[in-house]
Amino acid sequence: MSYRVVKFGGSNLKDVQGIKKVIKAIQNYNQPLVIVVSAFYGMTNRLIEAIENAKLNKLDIDELVTDIYNNKLENVTQSVSDEDLINKFKDELNKRLKELKEFFLGISYIKDIPPFLYDEILSYGERFSSLSLHYILKDIGIDCREVFPEDIGLITDGEFVNATVNFKLSSEALNKSLSSNLTYIIPGFYGVSEKGKTTLLGRGGTDYSAAAIASCLNADSLDLWKDVEGFLSADPKIVDTPVNIESLTYAEAAELAYFGSKILHPRTPEPLAKKKIPIRIFNIDNSYDGIRPLTIINGKERITNDVIKSVSYSDDFGIIKLKGSGVGIKPGILAKSTVELDNANINIKSVITSQTAINILLSSKDLKKAKNVIEQKDIHGINEVEIHGDISIIAAVGEGLTTQSGVAARIFGAVARKGINVRIISFGASLVAVYFIVDRKDRSETIYEIHKEFFVNEDTCKCVQ
Ligand code: ASP
Ligand code: MG
Repeated sequence: MSYRVVKFGGSNLKDVQGIKKVIKAIQNYNQPLVIVVSAFYGMTNRLIEAIENAKLNKLDIDELVTDIYNNKLENVTQSVSDEDLINKFKDELNKRLKELKEFFLGISYIKDIPPFLYDEILSYGERFSSLSLHYILKDIGIDCREVFPEDIGLITDGEFVNATVNFKLSSEALNKSLSSNLTYIIPGFYGVSEKGKTTLLGRGGTDYSAAAIASCLNADSLDLWKDVEGFLSADPKIVDTPVNIESLTYAEAAELAYFGSKILHPRTPEPLAKKKIPIRIFNIDNSYDGIRPLTIINGKERITNDVIKSVSYSDDFGIIKLKGSGVGIKPGILAKSTVELDNANINIKSVITSQTAINILLSSKDLKKAKNVIEQKDIHGINEVEIHGDISIIAAVGEGLTTQSGVAARIFGAVARKGINVRIISFGASLVAVYFIVDRKDRSETIYEIHKEFFVNEDTCKCVQ
């Protein structure tokens, strides 16, 4: 059977106007789809906040439940005309809200939350979306069914909050469960452990669940509907007229996502690359114009004249520097340090070593904790631990970057001309990305200068006039 997997995110599902565009996009396909949905905009954060308040016994549970009820009902009543469907929707909504209410009562009572319940509660944001969309699509005559990851067998490794999909088990189950020729609506963001426990796939994880489902079903494509203009050559907040990137390889897209581009969850390309299933990115604001992707991510390598396709950045990186003469060559120091960080649940984003310092890149929020952990361990060979938070990481991405000569010289030449100090460079760790660190205050100028170097020239005049 052939499948098309289509994902709508929280920013598409904000209000009735957003829902209208989603309906239009779905109608344009004119074929059965596998639709994966995120929670409505802001919903996941709201549930997290509610959990925190419930732990302090400060949550007004009835107010929360009534508020969700009214909000969901408003969206559905404004989009559905059949009274009978609205009544059925209300019943089901009440059922789910009752479950949610009981979870919150439990937390308020014990003033704590077991890990499995945290994942379970957050999955409700997505479950409300799939429920709403199901009734909205039914009302316009689309033959559709709402199905849950636990029923269709989207199986994970069982890790709470940040699980990984078990592709072998899920492929078998999904192909069996989704074998009718109708539209399926699946809540994203979670799968289930082999024991049937709800496990989240990480923040923003609906892209990844949709990618996993597309991979398991060998779909024709994974279509991601966003509220932006596809991948661009740089952040439009920094560069006035960035260029749209029509095509990227999986590796390029993954690097851009890893280094700050918000369009795609960094784990999305991974399940699709092996099977060469294309990822197509659409802007929901164009849904009235038909099915016209802005960026297609596939296996087709395309080395452009200037090699660089996009420059991205992230402010969510910090450096912990482990200093000591010879740390770079003494065996075991890096291993001991990373084990300690891992035990403290701190994720390492990258490591760059030199003779006198090991530089570990972490999320900014983990810096202080990491310093404490390493200092307490008093690892032989480390004399000093420094942290640097006010930095940004910049990544220039493009196939051919490590094989074509002169590209690095152009990047760093552009930066040097403005007297910007580059603190650390990593070249070659990825075949398609060079990344480096600058002070936060220099971040926007760095992006601007590199973009100017590669995208604004008289011959092609692709950018600013
Ligand atoms: N609702 C979840 C989140 O906000 C998953 C997603 O939006 O993809 O993280
Ligand atoms: Mg989201």
